[in-house]
Formats: sequence, C-alpha cells, structure tokens
Amino acid sequence: MSVTVQPVPILSDNYAWLLRDTATGAVAIVDPADAAGVAPAIEAAGRLDLILLTHHHLDHVFGTDEVRARWGCPVVGAAADAYRLPKLDIAVREGDLVPFGDSEARVIEVPGHTRGHIAYFFANGAVLLAGDTLFSVGCGKLLEGTAEEMFASLKKLSALPDHTLIACGHEYTENNVRFALTVEPENLALHARALEVMQLRSAGQPTVPSILAQERATNPFLRAPTAARLGEIRTAKDRF
Ligand code: ZN
Ligand code: FE
Repeated sequence: MSVTVQPVPILSDNYAWLLRDTATGAVAIVDPADAAGVAPAIEAAGRLDLILLTHHHLDHVFGTDEVRARWGCPVVGAAADAYRLPKLDIAVREGDLVPFGDSEARVIEVPGHTRGHIAYFFANGAVLLAGDTLFSVGCGKLLEGTAEEMFASLKKLSALPDHTLIACGHEYTENNVRFALTVEPENLALHARALEVMQLRSAGQPTVPSILAQERATNPFLRAPTAARLGEIRTAKDRF
C-alpha cells in the first residue's frame, strides 16, 4: 500500500502528475495547468480527491479552477503565495502534513525559482513532487531567489531517501544532460544517464520520475559543493 505517480504530459513540455493512494483508491492531481489536458487521466481514474499546487506560474496553475469545479475537490498551495495562487482551500507551510487517503504529504518550502515555491513529499511510496525546483539533471531558473536560497532548497531535497522518485514539472532532461556534460565531461554516471535519456526520448517516453540517488550522481546543481558554485553553474545554464 503506497502512493503511486503517473506523469500527465500537458502544454508543450509540462507534466501534471496523477497520484493514487493504493490503500483507499484516493486520487490527486498536481499542477493541472491544462484542464482539458488532464481530463482524460482523471476520467480514467474515475475520481479526484485533491489538487496540489507547487507554485504560482501559469504553466502550473492555469486550469485549477476548472478542475476544482468539475470534481469539487480542495486545492492545496503555499500560504506564502496565496495572494497570487488560485483560491486555496488549504494553505500550507513548511512541515505541514496534507492528508491523502491513508497517506500524507509533507510540505517542504523550497524558495529559489519563486519565493513561495513548495514541494510535497509522500514518505509512503517515497514520492517527491518537485515542481520547477529540482529537474532531472537540472534545477529551476532563479527567477525570484538567490543561489543561496536555491542551494538550501536543494540540500533539503537531497536529504530525502535514496530511492525517492522525483516527479518534476517539465520534460527538460535532454537539454539538461547536454549542459551537464559540459560541467562534468568525465562523469560516467552522467554518460549512462545521457544514453538512457536518448533512448527514452526517441521512444517518445518520459524521462521522469527519476530516482534521487541517480540525481545525486548526475545532477550538477545537486552536486555543487557551495552556493557560489551553484550560482556559477546556473548562470552558465542560462546562457547555454
Ligand atoms: Zn515555474
Ligand atoms: Fe514551469
């Protein structure tokens, strides 16, 4: 009995995520930016019990009100950003526990990409909904935060269990791998991931969720030893 995740590709390169609590059959959707795009996955599940939002950007929240109206379920998001998120039924902060079926999500505040960005961790199933903070082999742009903030946010995520599934907000992995190879051209784990990503993408498959242990071995942003180094790598990626 645990929480399972399924990517729902929407817009050009976003992922919403369909979560199931296998013990109770409860269903949640994360970042349903495109109501029509997520509808088939929710219809197939047959119910929707919860909507989770990671941050306020439109490519994550746009369809929220339409999905809530259709299924009548509560919307969870960051209290810190309530003023610019869709109306929240449950406003959460660091350490809050959000019940979902027989499971619960722990809220982790991860400023850097946006000020009020949060991630959700389901210990039951070891699933992290990382939004635009941690990508596979990448991290989010520092739109509203400093390298210090992103460094601290990534440290929190990196402390989760090795087998944690990283469910992130975009399919950016191919480009991220190409950049990462310029940072660590001799990283063998990264070369192995590059091959895997190439095969998945040419088969039209998602490259995520990825596994935290693999991210620690391949993701230059998680591997940066200091905030200053993280900032350097992020600036180089912005110009890549
Ligand atoms: Zn974003
Ligand atoms: Fe995004």
